[in-house]
Amino acid sequence: MSSSEQTLSIIKPDAVERNLVEEIKNIFKKNNLIIKESKKIQITKEEAADFYRVHQSKPFYDELCSYLSSGPIVVMILQGENAVIQNRELMGATNPKDAKENTIRKLYGISIDKNSVHGSDSNENAKKEIEFFFKN
Ligand code: UDP
Ligand code: MG
Repeated sequence: MSSSEQTLSIIKPDAVERNLVEEIKNIFKKNNLIIKESKKIQITKEEAADFYRVHQSKPFYDELCSYLSSGPIVVMILQGENAVIQNRELMGATNPKDAKENTIRKLYGISIDKNSVHGSDSNENAKKEIEFFFKN
């Protein structure tokens, strides 16, 4: 069995707005993740609420959904060895303040909410999230 996997990545509105799409894509490419699909879209707050429903009981849920739907995003399927973990490592910690040097969130994240990227956290969620954006 091949260890090549797919994961879902989202470049969030704060990074799209600051024209960071190509810089972020280059980080994936340089680190052996192939961008199999990529599209720039804007989603509704209802769609964001559906996507992030795992967080529905959290205090930040409403703002998170408003934020993700506030402007264009770039959704991508990344493919490569251990793509889920590899992408999470390249992203860095949720709070940019805690993220390691040279991670995407350390380089570009503004705050814990405007943290520039989303990445699936497991293979199971990667499948669901890819389906959400690409298999309709
Ligand atoms: N988030 C937030 N406040 C918090 C924690 C998370 O606004 O205290 C936002 C942030 O944008 C984060 C997203 O909710 O990326 C999803 O949270 P999760 O814990 O799944 O972090 P991630 O998997 O994105 O690192
Ligand atoms: Mg998460």
